[in-house]
Amino acid sequence: MANLQQILERHVREAAPELQEKLDRNRVRCYSCGHCCPIADGQAGVCKVRFNRGGVLYVPWGYVGGVQCDPIEKKPFFHAFCGALAYSFGMLGCDLHCGYCQNWVTSQALRDPSAVIPPLRVTPENIVEDALNQGARVLVSTYNEPLITAEWAIAIFKEARAAGLATGFVSNGNGTPQVLEYLSPWIDLYKVDLKSFNEQRYHQLGGRLQPIAETIRRLHKMGIWIEIVTLVVPGFNDSNEELTAMAEFLVSVSPDIPWHVTAFHKDYKMTGARDTAAETLVRAAEIGKKTGLGHVYAGNLPGEVGDFENTWCPGCHELLVGRSGYRVTSYHVTADGRCRKCAIGIPGRWDPVFRRQLTDHPYLPATAGLSR
Ligand code: SF4
Repeated sequence: MANLQQILERHVREAAPELQEKLDRNRVRCYSCGHCCPIADGQAGVCKVRFNRGGVLYVPWGYVGGVQCDPIEKKPFFHAFCGALAYSFGMLGCDLHCGYCQNWVTSQALRDPSAVIPPLRVTPENIVEDALNQGARVLVSTYNEPLITAEWAIAIFKEARAAGLATGFVSNGNGTPQVLEYLSPWIDLYKVDLKSFNEQRYHQLGGRLQPIAETIRRLHKMGIWIEIVTLVVPGFNDSNEELTAMAEFLVSVSPDIPWHVTAFHKDYKMTGARDTAAETLVRAAEIGKKTGLGHVYAGNLPGEVGDFENTWCPGCHELLVGRSGYRVTSYHVTADGRCRKCAIGIPGRWDPVFRRQLTDHPYLPATAGLSR
């Protein structure tokens, strides 16, 4: 019986020309993520899903590791299409190897033998049709690292845009100028994980800070809506100095960027650290506010973090969007994205009408037309 690697090697096509460079001796350089791997003939890149055969770079195509219907608040996007259903798909593999990964079954599928999930064969039309049937407003590539499977995501996003859906990435942000240019015409929303502001700690996770910081700057310049998430892990990145450095960096890009500081719980290989206490999250959120960010949220501990689940007007401090966990409890943004009291513009992508939230919890759709 074929193993997972062999199954995935049948679901490939050649990389987009923009995301590869032919080198000498049949080697190819991949530009899909910040590692920019030079890959020898017969080898795979760090992510294990993009590989060189005979001087041709092959990349994942034609499958998903899974699909799920999520409230958009779970991605999390708090300033985009509030209350919308985000139809979410993931492939397999990642270019980092974070010990606390909460999607490790899909992200580490080719590195860790205990992370086993068979692929589901799909076409872009299948995915978009299923998303529309579920009532989705947004289609999101998530669960694994979407940059390393960018070609397939874009094939789906082209179909999604034609059907009137918005599109988004939930990503570690380890991008390159090449992959961001490739994505930019087809993507509306982009969530970046800013995991640390310390180069050594990024190395522990398998990455570097510089390409991630650069990705945040470039996405903002390109006009793609970004929200940033920092999973606050006690003893790893929760010092006042490090949280302040992250917040200062975000302010230097734009004080309008929402920053979500979220609670860690023991997962995967990182089981030594304590779970994040509510006081730690509130401390992190207060640092963000004090540093000058206009919108800071504390996530994963609903009901324990005071006002940090809600969106407040930066002008008159009126409540704009009330939330409890993923549930939107009230909504007061005008049709043109302003505070209804003082009329100041609220950064984000707002629908003209707030529709009733279809779900405030994730669920698995019936995947008619998709097959293992
Ligand atoms: S996506 Fe990143 S890790 Fe994978 S081959 Fe390309 S550069 Fe290397």
